[in-house]
Amino acid sequence: MKSIKVLDKEFVLYLREEVIQEKLKECADKLNAKFCDNNDIPIIISLLNGAAYFTVDISKHFNFACQIDFIKYTSYVGTTCSGTMRDLIGLKTSLENRDVIIIDDIIDSGFTMSEIVSKIQAQNPKSITVVTMIYKPNSLKVKDLQIDYYAIEILDSPFILGYGLDYNEVGRTLKDIYVLKD
Ligand code: IMP
Ligand code: MG
Repeated sequence: MKSIKVLDKEFVLYLREEVIQEKLKECADKLNAKFCDNNDIPIIISLLNGAAYFTVDISKHFNFACQIDFIKYTSYVGTTCSGTMRDLIGLKTSLENRDVIIIDDIIDSGFTMSEIVSKIQAQNPKSITVVTMIYKPNSLKVKDLQIDYYAIEILDSPFILGYGLDYNEVGRTLKDIYVLKD
């Protein structure tokens, strides 16, 4: 099995590019079925950095018109109160009364997506659809998180690298998906 070294860790090949692209196309078809007759143009909110690769590739298969915003969900030091908070940075469009499609790279514990959904919900969108490239059901801690579509399900919980996913910011550009060698 092909393996690679990234920084101080060894990773083994888990899914080849061709398989990823097939799974991504299947996921796109489900979104096509949902949005092909949509009255309004949905807005995709894609979470940088990890979801950029998946978002660009999956969106090439969409047969509905859509708008895409790439944003960061990141920490910043507040100016009016002490402590570090996380917020959606870079959102330029009002989400009020919009059909919002949130796309992330991976849902692990689900805490990140749950916080993002709450922040988007606060803007009174018409609907929210949650899409993730990788879903790890056995790691999910936020049991009431609604995950509408995923491309790849991984039942065990290895650390995953490649195709947008990083280890200390390295490895995102790998075309295949790898898992940490144990
Ligand atoms: P969660 O809040 O535990 O669901 O994790 C969300 C974020 O952690 C993801 O958006 C990723 O950026 C990162 N993450 C979680 N699991 C992995 C992994 O296996 N490899 C790389 N990044 C991960
Ligand atoms: Mg992420």
